[in-house]
Amino acid sequence: MKFIKKNSNNYDVITNRKIKYIIIHYTGMKNQKLAIKRLQSKVAKVSTHYVISKKGLIFQMVDDKNIAWHAGKSKWGKDINLNSKSIGIELVNNGFEKFPKNQIKSLIRLIKTLKIKYKIKKSHILGHSHIAPHRKIDPGPLFPWFYLAKKGLSKIY
Ligand SMILES: [Zn+2]
Repeated sequence: MKFIKKNSNNYDVITNRKIKYIIIHYTGMKNQKLAIKRLQSKVAKVSTHYVISKKGLIFQMVDDKNIAWHAGKSKWGKDINLNSKSIGIELVNNGFEKFPKNQIKSLIRLIKTLKIKYKIKKSHILGHSHIAPHRKIDPGPLFPWFYLAKKGLSKIY
């Protein structure tokens, strides 16, 4: 797959991390430019591996092998602080708008690729709201979990 590089320096280096999860987010910002700027900001101290534009372009900000700072305090089963074990994908969306078809198409292609590459279980493809339910609501009620489930990429309906 082809990615457009938009590097962020907000990450930790670790040797041989095990990627067990994919965590889906929305940016929750007014537009793409502001969202990417924030994901590169030294002050904000947040980042992600991938950002998907409304048109379906995929930007890579942090290499898969490094730990991006997208999940924060989080938990799933026995795993805590999922940044170290996950890949973060941010969808450009202000939190109140429908996800365009091309954006979801690219998301599905990306998830399929990562799922095969890292042998990620479909039950480990989750939203930020699942792993930090008291703090986060993204990717929100408009996110098409059912469609992902139909494609065999999620167990959330
Ligand atoms: Zn999030």
